[in-house]
Amino acid sequence: MSTRIPATLIAGDGIGPEIMDATLAALDALEAPFDWDAQVAGLGGVKAAGDPLPQATLDSIRRTRLALKGPLETPSGGGYRSSNVRLREAFKLFANMRPAKTMIPGGRFDNIDLLVFRENVEGLYMGYEHYIPINDDPHAVAIATGVNTRQGARNILDYTFRTAIALGRKKVTVVHKANIMKALTGIFLETAYQMHKEKYAGRIELDDVIVDACCMKLVINPWQFDTLVTTNLFGDILSDLAAGLVGGLGMAPGANIGQDAAIFEAVHGSAPDIAGKGVANPIALMLAAALMLDHSGFHDKARRLRQAVSETLNADNIRTGDLGGRADTRAFTAAIVARI
Ligand code: NAD
Repeated sequence: MSTRIPATLIAGDGIGPEIMDATLAALDALEAPFDWDAQVAGLGGVKAAGDPLPQATLDSIRRTRLALKGPLETPSGGGYRSSNVRLREAFKLFANMRPAKTMIPGGRFDNIDLLVFRENVEGLYMGYEHYIPINDDPHAVAIATGVNTRQGARNILDYTFRTAIALGRKKVTVVHKANIMKALTGIFLETAYQMHKEKYAGRIELDDVIVDACCMKLVINPWQFDTLVTTNLFGDILSDLAAGLVGGLGMAPGANIGQDAAIFEAVHGSAPDIAGKGVANPIALMLAAALMLDHSGFHDKARRLRQAVSETLNADNIRTGDLGGRADTRAFTAAIVARI
């Protein structure tokens, strides 16, 4: 009998439970050997335990070191911090990997196959912010502090080089703004070239591009890029741009990788406007589950899941409403399972 792998399951808020049921149906059809420990977070956590990130959920991930997570809402008011940011901090999830690959040929951008790596725990994104009041204006001056460290840059860059080489990629491009933010993003660029020279030269190419030019180039000719790696805030923006090139957030999976755990999720949010209607597109979470299968060494099951998604979309022409189709979540899932 094969060993089962303990993993934490967080269905999440809004459409989370609908797309998680669909994803679990696909994983069951694949006989994926995960031994799920179901936990709550986000609004579900507040309802169940008065905390968007209950201790039991943290304990579960600390034990399993592996999680599949639906979208989480941060309740407005009550002073709650984002559960997603807290999870990244708690488990030192320093790398966020988001592949953007065309699954529906014939669109505005065809044959896209990009990998975007985002530094996940440092930088301007951390929200170290304050105001300085002057006279009667409490918000006269706004200040944000970004912190990037050599070690933080080494963590994400080393992970990027190693993963890109393992996946047979040819080139890593560092995206930065070192012409203006010479220290904050310069340290990232400098570390990339140092690390490449020390460990990776001859195994993969390295070049760099300034973030504003990168946005323009991605829209004009995305095929010139292979693997992008960048700091937290730029990565937040660029990975959504890359998702847009391949059909939007409904198709975009993400992996949060760290020293202490790996958490897989859809890039999109809880879609409150369609929650409970049974029409959500479960592809992003299914592709996140495929990344989780790869991470756990089940490459063949991951490949079969991606192939089932592709065949359902293209050979069967079964699609959810956001992709211009008429299938509801249940019908789409049944078609995927039939393809597995
Ligand atoms: P959203 O991604 O939830 O929705 C944006 C639009 O895309 C909506 O019109 C929605 O219906 C549509 N959409 C998203 N996913 C879809 C899917 N799978 N199928 C079909 N349509 C889909 O973004 P938002 O409205 O800005 O955020 C809603 C909530 O989600 C907020 O509370 C936000 O904080 C949270 N959020 C969570 C995560 C996460 O947990 N990783 C990420 C982003 C947003």
